[in-house]
Amino acid sequence: MSKTLPIYLDNHSTTKPDPRVVEAMLPYLTERYGNAASEHGVGWVARGAVENAREQVAALLGAGTEEIVFTSGATESVNLAIKGIAEAYGSRGRHLITAATEHRAVLDTCSVLERHGFSVTVLPVDGQGLLSPSEVERAMSGETILVSIMAANNEIGTIAPLEEIGALCRSRGVLLHSDATQAVGRIPFDVSRVPVDLVSFSAHKMHGPKGAGALYVRSSAPRIRLVQQIDGGGHERGVRSGTANVPAIVGFGEAAAVAALEMEEEMDRISSLRDRLVEGIISRINDARLNGHPERRLPNNANLTFPGTEADRVILEMKEIALSTGSACSSASPEPSHVLRAIGLDRAEAVASIRFGLSRFTTGEEIDYTIGRLAEVVERQRRPAEKLQNTGR
Ligand SMILES: *Cc1c(COP(=O)(O)O)cnc(C)c1O
Repeated sequence: MSKTLPIYLDNHSTTKPDPRVVEAMLPYLTERYGNAASEHGVGWVARGAVENAREQVAALLGAGTEEIVFTSGATESVNLAIKGIAEAYGSRGRHLITAATEHRAVLDTCSVLERHGFSVTVLPVDGQGLLSPSEVERAMSGETILVSIMAANNEIGTIAPLEEIGALCRSRGVLLHSDATQAVGRIPFDVSRVPVDLVSFSAHKMHGPKGAGALYVRSSAPRIRLVQQIDGGGHERGVRSGTANVPAIVGFGEAAAVAALEMEEEMDRISSLRDRLVEGIISRINDARLNGHPERRLPNNANLTFPGTEADRVILEMKEIALSTGSACSSASPEPSHVLRAIGLDRAEAVASIRFGLSRFTTGEEIDYTIGRLAEVVERQRRPAEKLQNTGR
């Protein structure tokens, strides 16, 4: 165990590529540079590597290889899933259901469909970020074609009751898509157990490279139809045209294989480090509060509110620790996190909150250092405000 600066605790926004992943990729950036669609020896080598990666990724989910479509990342997968289903099933019905705590990739895609004549119900969640299956049932009508619910939240880590929601969707003949970007590779996610029809996920959230993602598309019981959103050479069985990003896909496959092998042990280790972080913070910092569900949460996630502080300023002062207030994908927006607002935090509480994301590479020393620094910085930043109050200014 050791601590090297900077300490990286922003693993919900991206993760460090595992050295085994980088090693697997290197030959495909150098001598094995072929186009996986080419019909000659150089192309066949690339194609073999892509198909091997497809097996590794499929195995992680308990899926068939024909059910995995490679994309550039989860955002593209989500767009393909939701728009592709809307286009394929739009003649059957024009209503979609999702939740207020979804990632912008889902919410913004649904907004685009609203402009194209679909109606979207955005369901509220409870104070711990949980969506109730009965809310989903109440929102369903004969027009509903798709429910899109994330497997685990990228800010507060809450794990959705996907089995129940999936069973409900099945019984009503409605399709279920899940943005499982934070779940796949971190917690067990098995499509033979969870009745989900489409699953979006991404390599760079599970110690793979950026630029590769996948969409799982169920091929039987039921067989899902999907209209492609990128037209061209007919790659990925016509569902996603464009030359395959072979090195990134090879890295994705290796990341999936490593995750499958080490997940169980890693979940234990990381969740106990996370618990040490939360307990340390709560015992050292007055009024610090944990957001999200106390048990139903990702092993690597903690999200805490430090009333009386501005998280941006706290993070800025701890330059040697990479942390964020919320989703990197909406960090261009000055609005406080829509996820924290959806679980009932007011504006001031939302901007006083910090997200912690641990990983395979997080050590106990890093956790202890972070607790100490945080206690010091929060205390210092709270103090001047108290002084000002005391002098009546
Ligand atoms: C990171 C993330 C995405 C976007 O993934 P990219 O691969 O970066 O496009 C989508 N959904 C969730 C929940 C995420 O955490």
